Amino acid sequence: MPQPVIDIRGTSRTYGEGPPALADVNLTVWPGESVAVLGPSGSGKSTLLNLIAGLDRPSAGSVTVDGLRVDRLGEAGSAKYRRARIGMVFQFFNLLDDLTVTDNVLLPARLAGVPRAEARRRAAELLAHLGIDRHTAAYPGTLSGGERQRVAVARALMNRPALLLADEPTGALDTASGDDVRELLTGLNADGQTILLVTHDLRLAEACASRTIELVDGRIVRDTATAAVAR
Ligand code: ADP
Repeated sequence: MPQPVIDIRGTSRTYGEGPPALADVNLTVWPGESVAVLGPSGSGKSTLLNLIAGLDRPSAGSVTVDGLRVDRLGEAGSAKYRRARIGMVFQFFNLLDDLTVTDNVLLPARLAGVPRAEARRRAAELLAHLGIDRHTAAYPGTLSGGERQRVAVARALMNRPALLLADEPTGALDTASGDDVRELLTGLNADGQTILLVTHDLRLAEACASRTIELVDGRIVRDTATAAVAR
């Protein structure tokens, strides 16, 4: 049996005296799955994402990603974990505007100490694969939203992450660019990339997710295989 990419057991997160942001959640995600996390505002989606990314620690329970106990990492270990094992994509791209497209994509490899020539090869390959090789020398500010998100996805994939985490990746895009990013994520998952995405975009969940999880008040109230993925 393969090792799960995400294994969350009995995990809770409480803030002060308030009700738990996450309450005794169990979640196992297997290699090759694409999981959409849905739920109303305040239901715990960001809390879950932050725990998986090692940006926050649970109040109880464990968070294991790619075999690593993320909840036990210190600050340096957690930063290294994010560089080496996960890729993150955000609603507003989070690209560095004073670096070219290529340099943005190279950044994670530089931080991880990948030899320059190898990193350049990988970046060129990714940019070509994601259809943005025409813009390698451009600055992000000159690109459309959809193109910027493609660059952000290329950057996220640079270090071959076990898991791609996406937080509302179509949230800031117009319909056409949203379709473009939906297609891109669906294609990556078809190629075997494990993805967990938080979204309000039901079309994205339908197009790209093989499984949908719904959170309400910090609990998983629904966990369904969405076999409708057209592949
Ligand atoms: P979602 O991403 O689904 O909108 P969140 O995970 O952001 O939900 O929030 C879940 C709950 O935890 C909410 O009730 C929110 O107010 C609370 N919460 C989140 N972050 C904090 C914080 N830093 N301090 C106190 N309460 C928080």
